[in-house]
Amino acid sequence: DQKRSQRGTVGVFSEVLHEQIRQEQYLCEHLRHAIARSEMSVHYQPIMCSQQQRISSVEALLRWEHQGEQISPTDFIPLAERSGLIIDIGTWVLNRACIDASQWNFENSIAVSVNVSINQLIDDTFISILQRALDTSSLSPSLLHLEITESVFAKNEKAVATQLAAIKALGVKISIDDFGTGYSSLSRLASMPCDFVKIDRSFVQNTSEGSDTIMRATMLIAQEFGCKTIAEGIETNTQMLHIKSLGVNYFQGFYYAKPMQSSDLITWYNENY
Ligand code: C2E
Ligand code: MG
Ligand code: MG
Ligand code: MG
Repeated sequence: DQKRSQRGTVGVFSEVLHEQIRQEQYLCEHLRHAIARSEMSVHYQPIMCSQQQRISSVEALLRWEHQGEQISPTDFIPLAERSGLIIDIGTWVLNRACIDASQWNFENSIAVSVNVSINQLIDDTFISILQRALDTSSLSPSLLHLEITESVFAKNEKAVATQLAAIKALGVKISIDDFGTGYSSLSRLASMPCDFVKIDRSFVQNTSEGSDTIMRATMLIAQEFGCKTIAEGIETNTQMLHIKSLGVNYFQGFYYAKPMQSSDLITWYNENY
């Protein structure tokens, strides 16, 4: 009896697994064609300077609308990474973002910050893809920032350092994303040339003393290495005032604006400035 019920549990378990695999294969098949079918778009979320409370850059965030439904990047980006599709998808985002940014013509020039996955970053073709995106769009390299998640620094240390140096040589700036969540050692950070450190929203939204301590420590480290700090996920005035009192340089979050398509960003800018 016990044996049978064990087998039953395993049976249910493997059915759930199979369902997950089917689901993933289904999504992957559609992800493969998403760009060609014009299901992908890039939205832009303002990043504000904490002093003047003016927009200084935007983060490019990929959106996928499939059969009338929005699929979250937190669901499909990992899939794109596992399947190798991230190279083509990431190249498309980079080109789209550079072209959009080069066409904005805002009164103050605004940088665009593009998320880059580790598989893209360490691919042999990445630097030439980057160079081509800049050439095609004529975007000034200093107006392009690349966001790299902190967790990737633990692996591929040599390859990452080489690529970051090549990116910097082009005049493109580097942000470390989700800082504080990736457990990278401080000595490793010292060898990575970065311009911005993005404090993860889990710290911004947590009101505990420990969270503040981590943010203060992050600020000290960032300053020591000559990096500016950006706080992600600011949703309320209270959070903004608190983060401001810590001396963070830039703010990003729903409190200011949600990610918007390029035409809506232009409207938003004209309404606010
Ligand atoms: P991320 O790079 O840390 O991006 C910030 C995420 O926080 C975005 O989620 C943004 O919409 C969200 N966010 C911004 N302000 C607030 C706020 O005030 N409250 C809350 N709750 N959330 C806020 P999104 O667009 O769903 O993207 C999720 C993640 O997917 C990104 O995290 C990034 O890791 C990845 N991702 C998005 N687009 C791309 C892309 O083009 N390439 C790559 N490789 N990854 C991407
Ligand atoms: Mg990011
Ligand atoms: Mg982030
Ligand atoms: Mg984050």
